[in-house]
Amino acid sequence: MEPQDQFLDPGLQPLDDIEGSLRPARLSEFQGQKEIRENLGIYIAAARNRGESLDHIFLNGPPGLGKTTLASIVAHEMGAEMRITSAPALEKPKDLAGLLTSLNPGSVFFIDEIHRLRPALEEMLYVAMEDFQIDWIIGQGPAARTLRVPVPPFTLIGATTKAGMVSSPLYSRFGITLRLDLYPPEEIGLILDRSSEILDIDLESAAGLKLSNCSRGTPRVANRLLRRMRDFAQVLGSGKVSREIVEQGLERMGIDEQGLEEQDRKILRTIIDFYQGGPVGADTLAISIGESSDTLEDFYEPYLIQKGFLQRTSRGRVATPLAYSHLGVTNRNGDLFSS
Ligand code: ADP
Repeated sequence: MEPQDQFLDPGLQPLDDIEGSLRPARLSEFQGQKEIRENLGIYIAAARNRGESLDHIFLNGPPGLGKTTLASIVAHEMGAEMRITSAPALEKPKDLAGLLTSLNPGSVFFIDEIHRLRPALEEMLYVAMEDFQIDWIIGQGPAARTLRVPVPPFTLIGATTKAGMVSSPLYSRFGITLRLDLYPPEEIGLILDRSSEILDIDLESAAGLKLSNCSRGTPRVANRLLRRMRDFAQVLGSGKVSREIVEQGLERMGIDEQGLEEQDRKILRTIIDFYQGGPVGADTLAISIGESSDTLEDFYEPYLIQKGFLQRTSRGRVATPLAYSHLGVTNRNGDLFSS
């Protein structure tokens, strides 16, 4: 069977569809992040009242926290279409110009990984964001002239995991800036309840509690773990996702009681064993564990930092005493910790 053929089987859904079916369509279905939800609700209501398109929005935060979801909610609540692209996919000015000029009035234009936009495209975007037009240069040398091409009023939603890498001229053109942080376990619990209802999964409350503490504060991880627990429940149990099934499932997946995966523990062990607890630079660390710096910094580190196992210092990454004690190893002074 060719890889794509499996999706022709009506019984199998491509992964995106599964994630899509759990994606909230309305602001009222978006769980947690109360401040963002409330403020965004006000901005949307005000723009709708005035009959204007919403101001441009900058969304910042680790992967899987709901940036794409929020963008599609904005489009839905504004009754507008949504166009999605990501900065690395835009190579030449004509790629961006083509997208901008084909927007409809009020469209929500979502650019993921906006920190990776090329400088020439960034300049085109400034003008489009501010004046709803683009300057298109035709011809070369002395015969070159600039054509002003109108762009319909639109809402740009720029998402990034690395706000620090976005240039200040671009950043300053967003009227609304929102930062998504890892969700507390209670909010992950709400997401798990909603997802288990949609997927018709019988999730015991004690099992939900355990899962919400092991989901890295990340809705995408929570939904993924829920689907895996459903597999374990179906094959190893009665179909009900009970506390025992979750404990067994997490152990099989190598996820410990703090929610750390094998790779998290490898990161901490590498800092401790090879770099005497740190500091070690992110690039060196990434190579040592066989991950890209982006994955290390965007996916693994936020959770390790939030749990107090890792510190980012100006000289590099440092394992904290909590990391030593969690792994049950001695620190550089020879003090013995146990987990
Ligand atoms: P990002 O764009 O930040 O990487 P996504 O928007 O793709 O993250 O979210 C990943 C998945 O997590 C989505 O499919 C959605 O189902 C779920 N999700 C994210 N945030 C929430 C939320 N606040 N409430 C419910 N589900 C959420």
